Amino acid sequence: DPRIKAISDAIRVIPHFPIPGIMFQDITTLLLDPKAFRYTVDIFVDRYRDKKISVVAGVEARGFIFGSPIALAIGAKFVPLRKPRKLPGEVISEAYKLEYGTDCLEMHVGAVQPGERVLIVDDLVATGGTLSAAIKLLGKT
Ligand code: 5GP
Repeated sequence: DPRIKAISDAIRVIPHFPIPGIMFQDITTLLLDPKAFRYTVDIFVDRYRDKKISVVAGVEARGFIFGSPIALAIGAKFVPLRKPRKLPGEVISEAYKLEYGTDCLEMHVGAVQPGERVLIVDDLVATGGTLSAAIKLLGKT
């Protein structure tokens, strides 16, 4: 897929951010390139449009950037998975270990109904800890 190279070329790598030893993949440069940003969204839309997905859950914060346009394009609702103490309503929580530190994801009770098919979106997978937490969180619905 020729789109992959355009996407890869648009992601800036910053060594030793936010701590020594991490090669940080900076997607803000991808967002500056409308064609590469469009390709990124299109690849997911092509893959998931006919998969009976009714919910796109985006992981704060960069999962919101990619998750929202995907949700609109496939006709799904968008549910933000947020960091602690941001959501005003009753929440379900899941704590997890990060590549650098610990954190917690929360979602509103009732945002996702039992049996719904959910696509979880984030900008990057490193250890997979965040996505595992997101899967567990959605499993609590
Ligand atoms: P994981 O939980 O898989 O170890 O780390 C993934 C999470 O940390 C994602 O939410 C992602 O946004 C963030 N993250 C970790 N490393 C990077 C990186 O190099 N670039 C970006 N953009 N996000 C990262």
